[in-house]
Amino acid sequence: MPPPHVVVVGGGLAGLAASLALAEHGMRVSLLEKNPRLGGRATSYRLPSGESIDNCQHVTLRCCTNLEDFFRRAGVADKIHYYNELIFSDSKGRRGRIRPSKLPAPLHLAPSFAALPLLTVRDKFSIARAMFRILASGGSPTIRDGTTMLEWLREARQTPRAIDHFWRVVLVSALNEELDRTDARYGILVFWKAFLSNSAGFGMGVPAVPLADLYASCCEPIQKHGGEVRTRCLVSEICLSNGKADAVRLDGGGEVRGNYYVLAVPFDRLAKLVPDEIRRTEMFANLANFSVSPITGVHMWFDRPVMAEPFLTSIDHTIQWIFNRTNRYVQIVISASRELANRSQQEIVDICRYELNDLLPGAKEASLLRAVVIRENAATFSPAPGCDRWRPSQTTAVPNLFLAGDWTNTGWPATMESAVRSGYQAAEAILSREGSPATLVRTDIYPNGLARWFVRT
Ligand SMILES: Cc1cc2nc3c(=O)[nH]c(=O)nc-3n(C[C@H](O)[C@H](O)[C@H](O)COP(=O)(O)OP(=O)(O)OC[C@H]3O[C@@H](n4cnc5c(N)ncnc54)[C@H](O)[C@@H]3O)c2cc1C
Repeated sequence: MPPPHVVVVGGGLAGLAASLALAEHGMRVSLLEKNPRLGGRATSYRLPSGESIDNCQHVTLRCCTNLEDFFRRAGVADKIHYYNELIFSDSKGRRGRIRPSKLPAPLHLAPSFAALPLLTVRDKFSIARAMFRILASGGSPTIRDGTTMLEWLREARQTPRAIDHFWRVVLVSALNEELDRTDARYGILVFWKAFLSNSAGFGMGVPAVPLADLYASCCEPIQKHGGEVRTRCLVSEICLSNGKADAVRLDGGGEVRGNYYVLAVPFDRLAKLVPDEIRRTEMFANLANFSVSPITGVHMWFDRPVMAEPFLTSIDHTIQWIFNRTNRYVQIVISASRELANRSQQEIVDICRYELNDLLPGAKEASLLRAVVIRENAATFSPAPGCDRWRPSQTTAVPNLFLAGDWTNTGWPATMESAVRSGYQAAEAILSREGSPATLVRTDIYPNGLARWFVRT
């Protein structure tokens, strides 16, 4: 008997994770991706010079257990470099470092936090009080539906400075949204998983190679199991017959038939692919409730080294993160960057160039040789209060049709971790239908140290 054939549409992390897991479980996979490269929103562009740059620096945290598992499956785990220290800077150039001590979780970061020069003692006390609230509830404080993170922080009597220079700094980049548009549950989840529950959770992983290079190695295991990876392959629609998915039609002619289908495309692309019977469902109507949030990446090349640290977080600038790619080449990330929407590329470069003088002492003397601005207007869905109820499951009313993507129901905000989880969840559902169930989704990072005592069983 030939192995079941699964057609996966979309070669982002969700489609790749589903494809890899299914291939490893003996399924024949056809992965169809419209772009020339794999990786979807986490990918690289080729400049006219032939050089590859990422659309924007992507980072992971140690608490992203499924993404780590995916990198292992893809054979690229050694290409992710982990760092155990976060460096913050303010506009006066003062630096502060958060790093683990020998104390057990949740106290591991407390000594460096207490010594942080960028916050006052009053700010720190207010933050410690809110942290204790998160801790005491085992990461799940009782929150009214519809509460934004900003409302929760105000209820937790945070000082304005603690909100602007601490909570906002961490959460806007982690969730790609402003605090007054973010569901408080997502904000709390970030602090519980990354900072409080496990002493390793906040370790930050940065790919050491261009993003697209990370995924090229996914092709081999898929092909080894008789599957194929087709790039520059745009799917125009999925056809149903007798209540089941029957084929995907390709732009320019031709179709691909399989036993199962996974649509791993962004939620706003789904409408183009699915027939009316799916477009009329409640699940589909709910997708209209999602809004999106932008991220702007600014790449700058200087005539001399400008940065010594691997990365830096700015607490009171337009610039949020600076990543040191090669000392002379830095990559700036600005999440939830709506305020830059009406700015020209040159204006954005000018703002960043000006702010770098405050943040990097070496930048003052350096000449900017060139700069590239990449705006991703629909970088992620916005983690608006209550948005979880609009996120569909990976299974659909059509028995052999599945969904995957960071926007499907994974319990995680729109991240690479959520995309990989969704791919594994779709693959688990297919394996179950085939009668060979398997557990692919990794459990969350375990609370350790003293944090274990706060977990509700
Ligand atoms: C600028 C930026 C910075 C980010 N930074 C981080 C970060 O630091 N950490 C983090 O965890 N997350 C980050 N994210 C979010 C992360 O990139 C996404 O959550 C994740 O990559 C989504 O993966 P996905 O597979 O769900 O969707 P996508 O990556 O969007 O994949 C969908 C794929 O489907 C393909 N496709 C669409 N339509 C068709 C069709 N008709 N036929 C064939 N193929 C089709 C697309 O080309 C795409 O490759 C960032 C996102 C952006 C944009």
